Amino acid sequence: MHSVLFVTGGAGFIGGCFVRQAVGDPRTARVVNLDKLTYAGNLDSLRPVADDPRHVFVRGDIADGDRVAGLLREHRPSAVVNFAAETHVDRSIDGPRAFVETNVVGTFELLSAALAYWRTLEGPERDAFRFLHVSTDEVYGSLGAEGKFTETTRYDPHSPYSASKAASDHFVRAYHDTYGLPTLVTNCSNNYGPYQFPEKLIALVTLNALEGKPLPVYGDGGNVRDWLYVEDHARALRRVLEAGRPGQTYNIGGDSERTNLEVVEAICAAIDELRPGLPHAPCRSLIRFVTDRPGHDRRYAIDSSKIARELGWRPRVDFESGLRETVAWYLDNPGWVDRAVSGTYRGERLGLGATETA
Ligand code: NAD
Repeated sequence: MHSVLFVTGGAGFIGGCFVRQAVGDPRTARVVNLDKLTYAGNLDSLRPVADDPRHVFVRGDIADGDRVAGLLREHRPSAVVNFAAETHVDRSIDGPRAFVETNVVGTFELLSAALAYWRTLEGPERDAFRFLHVSTDEVYGSLGAEGKFTETTRYDPHSPYSASKAASDHFVRAYHDTYGLPTLVTNCSNNYGPYQFPEKLIALVTLNALEGKPLPVYGDGGNVRDWLYVEDHARALRRVLEAGRPGQTYNIGGDSERTNLEVVEAICAAIDELRPGLPHAPCRSLIRFVTDRPGHDRRYAIDSSKIARELGWRPRVDFESGLRETVAWYLDNPGWVDRAVSGTYRGERLGLGATETA
């Protein structure tokens, strides 16, 4: 059990969920949360832990190696969990540089600082230390109708986003194999749930359907993704930290493959049910097929049997109930949505880009 955690990107969607879970665990002594607060970072998502003295928020960049080194010396964590990243595929097509700066160079700086810190530890502290890097199934490329990604699937990234994540994964493994740093890598499928910035598919479609805006679906809507409920993902990461073997990779999936069109239709059905009488009902009439994204991978599917077998983790939330809860959360939290989009919690404003289907 890691009592002092150093989390990066903990004001984002998945990192925020992980921080809320970790702080909610009485065995946690402190969570240091380093986040640059880009457009995707939102302190509003950390409100449930804002008054807890065991949560220490630091605004800063993982690419600032000296700063990271100082924080590690000061707080002496037994684990580093790296969520910080640029994460939106469409943004990576329009502007890949930020993806290299944070996902590749930033991860390298974080690794280097972690290695220097780890080398100062001795005995049980040195043995217990872990560096957990959170990555994506997109590094594996695209599947046909059959098969699933396993931990040994060859890397084959297609977008600047997945290329940058692939590079960072390789650096993390290299730091284990070359220097002995006790690293862990996880590759997960598409996450969904409350507090997701409304540029990603489920959050954006929910809000647009509510307002009667068109619902753009790439291509024929037949691209398939596996969907993982964010709370299940955070539980998996905590389990990997606790019992994962250094140097290993664990795939994490939700056992919920759906086409994009099925996802959009399910959101529409949930809104029709939860908000009856909308003037534009049924919401599925808002669906519009738009030109496909360049390099759009057709199908991702994750084989999570290794983490199930070795660490006993399985998703608890099935897609239908997770989706319903998520849609209900967005309907109940218009204030969070307004503040996230307007940038109230970062002091800037932002326009929304295209729908992310990852
Ligand atoms: P997000 O975009 O919601 O949040 C990213 C967070 O990182 C933000 O709070 C942002 O401010 C912070 N950040 C960005 N650059 C930083 C920097 N240089 N230094 C410090 N902080 C910085 O992302 P998310 O959806 O929560 O994803 C978290 C991680 O999980 C990412 O590494 C992502 O690649 C991976 N992942 C996400 C998904 C998904 O479906 N969301 C799927 C697979 C893997």
